[in-house]
Amino acid sequence: MSSVLSQAHPWLDGLVAYDPGKPIEETARELGLDPADIIKLASNENPLGPSPKAIAAMKEAAEGVHIYPDGGGYKLRTAIAEKFGLDRGQVVISNGSNEIIELIGHGFLNPGDEVVAAEHAFVVYKLMATLFGAETIEVPDPDFVHDLDAMAAAITPRTRMVFVANPNNPTGTMVDGAAIDRFMARVPDHVVVIFDEAYHEFVPDAPDTLKYLREGRNVVVMRTFSKIQGLAGLRIGFGLTTLEIASVLQKCRQPFNTNSIAQAGAVAGLLDEEHQQRTRELNDEGRAYLERSFAEMGLEYVPSHANFVLVKVGDGDAVFQAMLRRGVIIRAMRGYKLPEWVRISVGTMPQNERCVATLKEVLAAS
Ligand SMILES: *Cc1c(COP(=O)(O)O)cnc(C)c1O
Repeated sequence: MSSVLSQAHPWLDGLVAYDPGKPIEETARELGLDPADIIKLASNENPLGPSPKAIAAMKEAAEGVHIYPDGGGYKLRTAIAEKFGLDRGQVVISNGSNEIIELIGHGFLNPGDEVVAAEHAFVVYKLMATLFGAETIEVPDPDFVHDLDAMAAAITPRTRMVFVANPNNPTGTMVDGAAIDRFMARVPDHVVVIFDEAYHEFVPDAPDTLKYLREGRNVVVMRTFSKIQGLAGLRIGFGLTTLEIASVLQKCRQPFNTNSIAQAGAVAGLLDEEHQQRTRELNDEGRAYLERSFAEMGLEYVPSHANFVLVKVGDGDAVFQAMLRRGVIIRAMRGYKLPEWVRISVGTMPQNERCVATLKEVLAAS
């Protein structure tokens, strides 16, 4: 057998490529619909779009794209460091916060190492661990909440890292500061704890995990511009960590991993508190509406702290397909071993109302 496949890393056999939310344009082409008639509530995007300030900054930056970006991301890293009261050296910017997960893998994972995550945690942790030949220890999460005591107990001498998604996607659940304190007291020094806080800004009094950084613990706090900032298409996020860990991650990235338009949009968005506030208010109203509607329909759902709701509909794939045919894109959850569930992102109120009406129609027909 001379196929080049036999030379690929053997652990890649078990790897299934990430299945993202279905794009609007693709759905329109397949169904022969007008893209304007399709709504996408599948990837937890901001239904208000980006901050107007970010749009203005991106337009201006577009004029200068014949010049390579500032690979060191001076302005953005400085703005982030100031916002969080950290040293610029502790800020690593990335091509979406997903890239931080990959950089940590490059820096720290070898075949045979172990990564600890909750059973229904964001699936990219496992994909990245598999990419580097590491094994993911999936710890049961009763009622879809990370069991941090069990996760601490799952740490072995081979554990390199533990992922804590807070709030978690796709469950929308959270752990509180007291549970995290108890957990951190048990984590040994050879383990890096990664707090993935992609939805942090949606939570009014989220636990302060930056304090572990100030204590010099081996943690990485991940944040993104893709969710509340409405900049998912730009691919930009960041990690906050110790100077030591940051120095490793900086070596692992491409010289120009974030582009100049993204850096400019992110700086402007970071400072636009008003847009974030408007987004939070819209999200609170929409999420309450979705949860109330699911309850009225007799559907089990997981109370959410984020901008999406996980809801049990029976045959998740069939409901996804039937909604899609009616121009409403949601997310089936088979990839998370939750074939009876779908995840619905909070949209504008008209979008939420159309989504609920369509879901009623689909469930009545099945
Ligand atoms: C959306 C999301 C991210 C962010 O992805 P980006 O690469 O920054 O777009 C990270 N973690 C979780 C849990 C998410 O849901």
